[in-house]
Amino acid sequence: MSWNEVLNHQSAQERFRRSVERNRLASTYLFVGPPGVGKRTFALKLAEGLLCEANGANDMNPCGGCPACQQVRAQTHPDLLLVSRPKDKNFIPVETFIGDREHRRRRGLCHDIGLKPFRGGRRIAIIDDADFLNQESANCLLKTLEEPPPKSVLILIGTSEQRQLPTIVSRSQVVRFGALTTEEIKRILVQNSIVETEVPIDQLAIASEGSVDLAIMIAEQDVYDFRQALFGQLSTHDPGANEFAKSVVTFVDGAGKDASEKRKRLILVGDFAISFYRQWNHLLCGGQQTGEHGLDQEIQTATERFQGEVNPGCQIASFCIQRTMDMQRHVAANVSSANAVASWLTDIGRICREQPVESVEML
Ligand SMILES: [Zn+2]
Repeated sequence: MSWNEVLNHQSAQERFRRSVERNRLASTYLFVGPPGVGKRTFALKLAEGLLCEANGANDMNPCGGCPACQQVRAQTHPDLLLVSRPKDKNFIPVETFIGDREHRRRRGLCHDIGLKPFRGGRRIAIIDDADFLNQESANCLLKTLEEPPPKSVLILIGTSEQRQLPTIVSRSQVVRFGALTTEEIKRILVQNSIVETEVPIDQLAIASEGSVDLAIMIAEQDVYDFRQALFGQLSTHDPGANEFAKSVVTFVDGAGKDASEKRKRLILVGDFAISFYRQWNHLLCGGQQTGEHGLDQEIQTATERFQGEVNPGCQIASFCIQRTMDMQRHVAANVSSANAVASWLTDIGRICREQPVESVEML
């Protein structure tokens, strides 16, 4: 895959191209942007270009055929360190950075990045899920960022600067990644053979909100249909009506027996709701409907109640976003799905009726 195939993000490509040409690569980068827009793909392509043994030192285009390029693609290159949050953990364990108790500071990323490059070029570390660094891990990493080993490049990948410690942000060059266009999403889905979906690819690309991850998640018909039903229900401002809470719980239970899969699905439900309220807020604030998210009809319905009354609507939308993020936080902290859904929908209903909502203490 050449740089041409790393879609979008042209300005980030140009920025790195100039830095590499002038031999002015920074030691630490922080990639931020929504999930599923290709930040990790970009980081791996950059690593391939920097570690390629067939191109020149000032060229970031990988040849794709040399042993180094092949090892980067197979993620087995000895100078490429890849770190991410383990599936069963809420954060990246500190051992990942400084080794376990028996090998403190003799293993882990902070040690390994300082080793002499095995193949003579650079050492590159890609730290995915940087949103999930706890204080201890961040402090260990900070020492490395303060005194980066020569010939090392660290790339942290997160969703926003706000979710990183300011001390980490201040030591990083921030590179922002935006959402992909509908056409780009379609191209990626076709290229990666994700087209055998139950949902037509045009609809899928529109509903993906510029994220390949989201497109893959909603490719199943039942997920797509639930998303539409949720939007319809939220547009009535009465999310608890018709026992809708039960259908949310049924949908969440449909993720399987595994509790972490159920949690993931409920967090996805929260993401759908946030998307709805963001789009609604956008329209209330005078924005145009774009048709990009496939929920124009529902947004229109939601807005009818607030004709000529922009402020209450905007306030309701932002309270609902806040309450939904609280629900996601509760779910991530293992509150039972049924309880989280019931109190979330009750509160959203109260917010929409402009009734006070007491802060919910579920933790
Ligand atoms: Zn190569």
